[in-house]
Amino acid sequence: MTNPLRNETTSDTLPSWDLGDLYQSPEDPNLRTDIAKAEALAAAFRKKYMGNVGTLTADDLAEAIKAYEELTDLSGKFSCYAQLLYAADMATPEHGIFYQNMMEKSSDISVTVLFFTLELNKIDDKHLSRHLEASESLRHYEPWIRDLRAFKPYQLADDMEELLHEKNITGAASWNRLFDETLAGLLFPFDKEQLGCAEIINLLSSPDAETRKKAGLSIGKVLAANGKTFSLITNVLAKDKEIEDKWRNFAEPISSRNLANFIEDDVVNNLIETVKNNYPKLSHRYYRIKAKWFGVKKLAYWDRNAPLPSADEEAISWDEAVKMVLASYRAFSPELADIGQQFFDNNWIDAVPRKGKESGAFAHPVVPSAHPYLLLNYLGKSRDVMTLAHELGHGIHQVLAGKQQGALMCDTPLTLAETASVFGEQLTFRSLLEKEKDERKRQIMIAGKVEDMLNTVVRQVAFCEFERVVHAERQNGELSQARICDIWMDVQEESLGDAFSFDISYKYYWTYISHFIHAPFYVYAYAFGDCLVNALYGQYLKQPKGFQEKYITMLKAGGSLRHTELLAPFGLNAKDPQFWQTGINVISDFIDQIE
Ligand SMILES: [Zn+2]
Repeated sequence: MTNPLRNETTSDTLPSWDLGDLYQSPEDPNLRTDIAKAEALAAAFRKKYMGNVGTLTADDLAEAIKAYEELTDLSGKFSCYAQLLYAADMATPEHGIFYQNMMEKSSDISVTVLFFTLELNKIDDKHLSRHLEASESLRHYEPWIRDLRAFKPYQLADDMEELLHEKNITGAASWNRLFDETLAGLLFPFDKEQLGCAEIINLLSSPDAETRKKAGLSIGKVLAANGKTFSLITNVLAKDKEIEDKWRNFAEPISSRNLANFIEDDVVNNLIETVKNNYPKLSHRYYRIKAKWFGVKKLAYWDRNAPLPSADEEAISWDEAVKMVLASYRAFSPELADIGQQFFDNNWIDAVPRKGKESGAFAHPVVPSAHPYLLLNYLGKSRDVMTLAHELGHGIHQVLAGKQQGALMCDTPLTLAETASVFGEQLTFRSLLEKEKDERKRQIMIAGKVEDMLNTVVRQVAFCEFERVVHAERQNGELSQARICDIWMDVQEESLGDAFSFDISYKYYWTYISHFIHAPFYVYAYAFGDCLVNALYGQYLKQPKGFQEKYITMLKAGGSLRHTELLAPFGLNAKDPQFWQTGINVISDFIDQIE
């Protein structure tokens, strides 16, 4: 058995990020200066505009929004810095304290200026459209105003909004922190070692069956031992959300997420239903093939991500991974590759796995006046290469949108936030597949891609179902640990199919899925992104000429356009009932190829 953590080829060359572009340290005098500046700006802004937003001229309103945008960028800078410092090393208690303090500073600032968006939403539609006609500088902010007003029907009285905002820091945000610190602090016995969460989960994709089993059981045992805490956090946050949803008058637990994504409920429901209807054609069928390849009647849950027999197990060095990913981007668009190159040249990536570091991977946009950072836990697997391609896609998207749209309009709604990342993965995969001439190896690669897609589409939709049931049942009272475990096992059996036998130790695996805690109902965005990119990629194959230009324009739009407007230039429409099936058929076709 080889322990991937001892892999010499990957450990030395892995980069750590340099947060010095933000601040040198928590003691950096510039940090204190920026906080003081932001506080003073916020106070002056409140004094100047509070109570009279509705009576401003069109140009004065534009000027106010501009000041608000600058403040958003400035306070984002120090809170993001604290967040990144903490994510890279949660084990250092000072980081937790610093992070909490910066969140509180930033929360105080946003409470000070919260009146502005609330008052802006009270301006009536007619008055506002006259303003927009009158002032070009105001028209620049039209998408932001449009998005803000989408929340108008759910808006509470000003003082209630302020109270909710302020209480968040000791409410949901603190429960999130408890979750993060609990998870980061867990130690999983493995042989004579104690592993962190990311390290032990990585062993589930070990080529050695015994290793996977031991890791799987160890994870199940440790998570179960902490089940009480995780179940409390889950219950509290579901109740917290229910209370707020009730006050705001949201129809369903998922509704606020759909609104924040600027996506219609029926488009999301259609996606979920289409994926569920395709479980037999996708996951059920694929895992039966996998079981056959493994020569077993039933797969254990710890075999779900097991590498395929005769898959290449050689670790891929970081340098090789970087080369592969950048070459794939370059073959598609040199402009995108050049932006991607900056992440490596300037140390915007933290790839070293460390104890106490946040598990998984993310791309943080930070603020447009700075630049994004990527966090990875690189272990040299081909999945890790895909993760790099994925997060780099986010990063490039964030650079393009940030430059073009500024702090208020750069954020892409979640559903489209996964577009550039998944597209980047697709590019990397296709170019690797093209280079491979060995038929057997190609099969393994396709199977690997299918597994990734099932993890993105089927698994995330199953997660979404889990959340739906948990949130719905929480409305009738607190859920016991046993009940949450049952819901988890039900959705797993339904989505993965009869090729699996589910050991009882699997039942606590819901506890470590951080999206349930950090962003309820976020998960369907992955399925949305994957199916959408499949459709988009299909258009690229059909009509490659001029595609790159349209694609980059789409990325630059950030949050300024909605999905219908963004997809129209490609001849696509997510409201079309057949749209999702087209994306899903790409996965199904891959399964046909290996069947
Ligand atoms: Zn992503």
